[in-house]
Amino acid sequence: MIRLRGHHLLCLLGYRGMGYSDEFCINMTAIYERLRVQPETEIVMIEGPDDICGHYPKDQHAHCEGASVYTRDARVLDKLGMELGKPVPWSQVTAKVADHVEPGDIQVICASCPWEPYGVCKEGVDIIRRGESLPPAPSRSGGPAAAAER
Ligand code: SF4
Repeated sequence: MIRLRGHHLLCLLGYRGMGYSDEFCINMTAIYERLRVQPETEIVMIEGPDDICGHYPKDQHAHCEGASVYTRDARVLDKLGMELGKPVPWSQVTAKVADHVEPGDIQVICASCPWEPYGVCKEGVDIIRRGESLPPAPSRSGGPAAAAER
């Protein structure tokens, strides 16, 4: 069972190997690949820091408890009609994304996220809406390591 907070459902769709540190990316890649290859894997929505936040670098400014991040989580859960604490297979999440999210929603929901301009999350939503599979995560590619809100 993978524990995820609301906005990370969308971050996972746009994960292309970029992240805050090697450890963060190793964990993110493991979660991304497990969900991609085994879409029946169960996830459970939680409030606050999750299995992705747990690998955020301890020496960087932590934003995981920020009010704006909680607001973003709530907006995503609301948009997808998902409940906290109820396990569901990942395939149900992607089905809900296909039905309820449009690529342009990312710009609105994630307006303050530094990763948003990369366009990868928007592209991820588009892939899901087309009924296609997300690409395999590339091996570590670096990317901005500044404090941000993935
Ligand atoms: S724009 Fe930022 S918060 Fe939104 S899905 Fe992408 S990485 Fe996550």
